[in-house]
Amino acid sequence: MAELLIEPIEAFSDNYIWLLSRAGRAFVVDPGDADPVLARLEKDSLELLGILITHHHFDHIGGVEQLVEKTGCQVWGPNNSKMPFITNVVAEGDSVTVLERQFSVMEIPGHTLDHIAYVGEGAVFCGDTLFAGGCGRVFEGTLPMMRQSLARLRDLPAETRVYCAHEYTLANFAFAQTVAPEDLAILSRSKECEQLRAQGLPTVPTSIDKERLSNPFMRWDDPAIVEALVKHGRDIPAQEDSVFAELRQWKDTF
Ligand SMILES: [Zn+2]
Repeated sequence: MAELLIEPIEAFSDNYIWLLSRAGRAFVVDPGDADPVLARLEKDSLELLGILITHHHFDHIGGVEQLVEKTGCQVWGPNNSKMPFITNVVAEGDSVTVLERQFSVMEIPGHTLDHIAYVGEGAVFCGDTLFAGGCGRVFEGTLPMMRQSLARLRDLPAETRVYCAHEYTLANFAFAQTVAPEDLAILSRSKECEQLRAQGLPTVPTSIDKERLSNPFMRWDDPAIVEALVKHGRDIPAQEDSVFAELRQWKDTF
């Protein structure tokens, strides 16, 4: 069986719509805009069979209705009355067949309450929860909820490729370097990503392993990050949730 290809389709200023394709058939994840998807389907002569949605924000769903109208494809996503176009509502532990491969659904609330990830084929599609070098803002959930969700992602196998929905990497590492200017993992990853962007290349997918090492939002239990926060005069009770909360709140105003 031919390999499942996963490629980004760029949308808006910094969104990635992930295109999964094999043998002329395709799925997309979080199509905020239909036009770049339709253009790509036509260019590569692909038939769109399905759409996977991670959460209800407009820059992730804005293109769904037009794509369904044009292709008649099905739509998987979380239960949310804001998304009446979903034909297959999924929740924790459900399995989704994507081009004959199995993906399982993981609930990762925090950025929004309905946020889910799709995990399979050594990959995770995690929308706006985990980014390269950062994490999503906490709009609907609580900070401890978001940390729990990131903890579940962190527990995935180290080599899991992380397909997030935005190219926020350089801004994330600018913050990470402010938090921990002498951290070698952050420094070298930051350089690597700057070089990719200078060549016009995406910095994603990243991997769980890379994020465990260099993403401060995945290092709430790392003494080096706690120490860095203390050095900046941030107030840190010795608790994982408060370390994460301190980082997230700082980034919100960075
Ligand atoms: Zn979002």
